[in-house]
Amino acid sequence: MTETVCKVCRGHGTIDRDGKIYECQCAFIKRMASTMPSFLRKAEIQPAHLELPVLKAIKRHVMVVAAWPDMKAVIKAAMLKHPHMFIKITSDREIRDVYVGSKSKAAKGEDNGSIYNSLEDLMDPPALMVVRLNELSYKNKAASGALEEAISYRTDRDRPTWLYNDMDKPFTVGSIAYSDSIADLIKTNFPVTRINRILATPNLDLDSLDDLPQLEIAEDPKPEPASKPEPQTAVAKASRKPLEISIPPPPDGMEEKERKPPPRLKAKIRPSDDDDSPLPSGLSVYGSGNSSTSKFRKGK
Ligand SMILES: [Zn+2]
Repeated sequence: MTETVCKVCRGHGTIDRDGKIYECQCAFIKRMASTMPSFLRKAEIQPAHLELPVLKAIKRHVMVVAAWPDMKAVIKAAMLKHPHMFIKITSDREIRDVYVGSKSKAAKGEDNGSIYNSLEDLMDPPALMVVRLNELSYKNKAASGALEEAISYRTDRDRPTWLYNDMDKPFTVGSIAYSDSIADLIKTNFPVTRINRILATPNLDLDSLDDLPQLEIAEDPKPEPASKPEPQTAVAKASRKPLEISIPPPPDGMEEKERKPPPRLKAKIRPSDDDDSPLPSGLSVYGSGNSSTSKFRKGK
């Protein structure tokens, strides 16, 4: 996984043209990628993706039927082509969560990731909203009502929306969030574009696993003294573990700005540059205690 140095700027990130300094394409792509969820950052874009008509429909309602690797490439390409446009991806699952959360106080508590208090908070801001259909995997009564409301929010205001229908896991009769009125809403408002498979859909071929990056486990050389509290960096956390899986550093030294739920497990296994350890915030609440003993001693 060695990164080749950009031939245009030789890794400087800027180019000098007519006495002026310009950002190199490679730096631009890195900067854009830093704002993307990691599953998009790693998406592979082929020239064929850039020819797809859907990329010209950035201001339209469209239902895109495609395989997930191609859809990721299309969304990433759209983001790179329109760097100043707020393009967001949501799903029927997130819509359901937000909808149910807005009705239940418990879901409004402190949580990692974005908190949306209402469907409007979720659906309003993006200039282009991509709704991934059929991500819901277990039955929920609120799901189709929430999805219908969310899609209607966009169509009523004529806000560009792409519905993504996975050809390998189609949203259709029997899908959890499906309803006849959603079908009607889609048929009335969303012309369909179908992307024939461009990227191979990864599958787990056990014969080819030797070609993939192999798991390496290294002993931690020096256990850390227990007394000294360290800042909660990923490195500090990692050094406390007796065993450490050696993970190459992120290729571009970027941090993930938007934490999304991990994408569906895809068959291709590779070392991830994500730090999935839970954040320590909030733990101190449990650690410090309420010193209820003094309460008992003093009485009321
Ligand atoms: Zn460059």
